[in-house]
Amino acid sequence: MFQNGDNIVTISNISDQSHLFSKSYYILGTIISLKVCGINGEKVIDEAMDRLTEIDDKMSVFKVDSEITRINKNAGKLPQAVSTDTFYVIHKAISYSQLSEGAFDPTVRPIMNLWGIGTDHPKVPENRIINKAIKIVSYTDIILNENGFTVKLNHENQAIDLGAIAKGYAADEVKDIFLKNNVENAIIDLGGNVYVLGNTPDGEMWNVGIQDPLKQRGKVVGVIGLSNKSVVTSGGYERYFEEDGEIYHHIIDPRTGYPCTNGIISVTIISDFSIDGDALSTCTYIMGLDKGLDLIESINGVEAIIIDKDNEIYTTSGIKKN
Ligand code: AMP
Ligand code: MG
Repeated sequence: MFQNGDNIVTISNISDQSHLFSKSYYILGTIISLKVCGINGEKVIDEAMDRLTEIDDKMSVFKVDSEITRINKNAGKLPQAVSTDTFYVIHKAISYSQLSEGAFDPTVRPIMNLWGIGTDHPKVPENRIINKAIKIVSYTDIILNENGFTVKLNHENQAIDLGAIAKGYAADEVKDIFLKNNVENAIIDLGGNVYVLGNTPDGEMWNVGIQDPLKQRGKVVGVIGLSNKSVVTSGGYERYFEEDGEIYHHIIDPRTGYPCTNGIISVTIISDFSIDGDALSTCTYIMGLDKGLDLIESINGVEAIIIDKDNEIYTTSGIKKN
């Protein structure tokens, strides 16, 4: 069994591991672990890692020369030409902002900067400063132009953050590389953002364990057998800091500028495409239990597992059936 993020794929049920190649790297701000069954596994993993590095170089808010950084620097001034990768992910992010009525908002970056969560110096910002900053958070100010693939933010100081969706896109891209190279069975794990391709070499479904948000890493609330599915979790326990006995996490309600406090502590989405799972786990976390479950029920082929602070587990109807 291995784990490096939220969800755990158990591989102890494989009898012959001789053709199982695995590598781990630190990319996209997290530990990436790829495991491939098949003889050319090592070469395929290297190709996937190059692609992940390319996506990180384009979409990271922390890299001074990424496409996202350039869009943000030009906010209120100029349209920025970007790659089709970045254009596509921003386009998808906007569609999830619309679907969630603004609960999901990729222009939340100025708020993330104030809180500094994930940096060495997180702090609770002054309420007055948060209230000022939420005024410039609005996905409706992202102007996409398909002629020339440019992106522009309407106002100065606005900034895009694809942290809630880019890893999902990256997982889908790795899957495509694997399929193109005739890899049939693999585990793609981008810091707990998991995609299980095919089956174990023994022909069994992969067992994916869902992290118990209230327990130490590796303790699960349950295990699901899956094949060709993405499993993504958003959890307040993943990235947070403590000040004066209060916990502040990294999933921000754009309407208040504060970390969400609606009682949910983790949302897991099971879907065919990881970009959808990643965006929807964040959407559902912010929308809360009732609205979140309704949203996921309304989407075909997507299921959710929601855990609240009392450790109650709620699931969509497709999970109950299984
Ligand atoms: P996830 O772990 O996929 O739920 O994404 C959380 C990350 O997405 C945070 O670290 C931020 O970079 C970003 N983020 C935080 N709040 C929001 C929000 N309301 N909408 C979109 N992205 C967000
Ligand atoms: Mg997400």
